[in-house]
Amino acid sequence: MLNLILMGLPGAGKGTQAEKINEKYNIPHISTGDMFRLAIKEGTELGKKAKSFMDQGDLVPDDVTIGIVKERLSKDDCENGFLLDGFPRTIAQAESLQNLLSEMNQSIDHVIHVNVPEEILVERLTGRRICPTCGKAYHVIYNPPKEEGICDRDGSTLIQRDDDSADTVKNRLAVNIEQTKPLLDFYEEKGYLVSVNGDQEIDQVFQDIQQHIEK
Ligand SMILES: [Zn+2]
Repeated sequence: MLNLILMGLPGAGKGTQAEKINEKYNIPHISTGDMFRLAIKEGTELGKKAKSFMDQGDLVPDDVTIGIVKERLSKDDCENGFLLDGFPRTIAQAESLQNLLSEMNQSIDHVIHVNVPEEILVERLTGRRICPTCGKAYHVIYNPPKEEGICDRDGSTLIQRDDDSADTVKNRLAVNIEQTKPLLDFYEEKGYLVSVNGDQEIDQVFQDIQQHIEK
């Protein structure tokens, strides 16, 4: 069994690393959104409950969420373990997860924190540009168009989404940092936390993750 939790701020490259972990260790990447969508699609009691809260624009209460996590972790594809992404979000959820796993005679192996300095995240997130015509995404540093500000495909002028403006990005990061800090401390105290330098080439980040997993 390999039971992992993946943590990292927006822009840290969690999704990319999750894919690689999934391929290498054959454990499902379970994001909170996918988990809810699946429960709703399958029409489970908890899925219906979750949907009724979401339809009203309310947060799904923890007891419903943890029930859905339990259903998800009991599925056949979790026989080798799992990679949780986006859950837990709070200490209360983290404690519920501890209890749930011990009921299942399991535990967390590692909490992998893909750590990227805030100023690099700002650079990554504010550099995004998008073509309003065809939707192709660019990045001013990491994936620039051939001609600055112009879509390679159709010559349209690229735009920056409001979500990617410096103020919005900094604000979003600040909120995330405040939310994740207590969780990182919680898992550090338990000895699960593994911090990986996410400000490196994608393959190097993954090598570092593998090293911790296989140590
Ligand atoms: Zn275009």
